[in-house]
Amino acid sequence: MNVVTRFAPSPTGPLHLGSAYAAWFAWNAAKETGGKFLLRIEDLDQGRARPEFEAAILDDLRWLGLDWDGPIIRQSDRSAAYQSALDQLNRDGLTYPCFCTRRAIADEIANAGAAPHGPDGPIYPGTCRTIPKADADARIYDGEAYAIRLNTAAAITRTGAVQWREDSDTVTADPLQFGDIVLSRKDAPASYHLAVVIDDAASGVTLVTRGSDLKPATDIQVLLQRLLGLPPPTYRHHTLVLSPDGTRLAKRAKSASIAERRGAGETPDMVLAAAKQQLSQG
Ligand code: GLU
Repeated sequence: MNVVTRFAPSPTGPLHLGSAYAAWFAWNAAKETGGKFLLRIEDLDQGRARPEFEAAILDDLRWLGLDWDGPIIRQSDRSAAYQSALDQLNRDGLTYPCFCTRRAIADEIANAGAAPHGPDGPIYPGTCRTIPKADADARIYDGEAYAIRLNTAAAITRTGAVQWREDSDTVTADPLQFGDIVLSRKDAPASYHLAVVIDDAASGVTLVTRGSDLKPATDIQVLLQRLLGLPPPTYRHHTLVLSPDGTRLAKRAKSASIAERRGAGETPDMVLAAAKQQLSQG
C-alpha cells in the first residue's frame, strides 16, 4: 500500500525552522516510499488564521522544494463533513451541550482548589454533563451559546480500550486524561481533534507524521476515529527542533524564520540542514 502523509500547518504565522522540518519530515516519509504528500491548511481558528500567512507558507514550501500532491485542503471548506460526524456522535448519545463560558470554567476550577491537568490544559470539571436534556433543549431554544463536548467516559465504555501504532510499536491510548473535550463551538464547526481525524480519513492519510509535542493528542484522536468508524493511520512523531542553545525554539526568533534565512542568502539545503542540526536528542 502506498504511503500518504500530510503537512497540516495552521496559518497563524509564517513558516519557521520547526514547521519547515515537520513539512520536510512528512514529504520525505512519502517520497522515500513513492507515496503521496498532501497539504492541509488548518484554518478553523477564525480569530488567528490569516490568508497572508497561508500565502507565505505556500511560498516557503515551494522554495524548499516540498511540492505537494493534489489540491490543497482547507478546513474552512469542510464544515459539512464535521457536522455529519457530530450528528453521528450526538445520535449515539456520546455528546452534550456545554453552556459554560471560559470564565465560568476558570472560576469553577479555581474554587475547586487543585484541578487535574490534561495535555490540553485543565480538565473540564463536567458541570454541564448532568443537565437534563429538556433543560438543555430549552436553553438552546432560548438562544444561549453552547459548545458540544464529548462524554469521554461514555465513549470509552462504548469502544473499550483503544490502541494505536507508533510505527511498529503498539500504544494503549489513555483518552480520559483529556476529560470531556470540546468537539465544536459556536464560532468553530469542529475542534482541532475532531477536524484532524475526519480530514486525515477523508484524504486517505495512512501515516500521520508530526512533532512529538502532539503525541499525547493521539490518545484522544484515536478514540474519535474508533467512534466514527474511521480507518486508523499509523503515527510517526518526530523530535522537535530546538534553538541553537538547546532551549525551546522561539517561533518569533529571527534565526527561526525561513523568510529571514532566505533573505540572508541561505539555500533550501542549508535551511533544512540547520533544522536537522537543532533537533532535540530525545
Ligand atoms: N495544525 C497543527 C499544528 O500546526 C498540526 C496538526 C497535526 O499535525 O495533527 O500544530
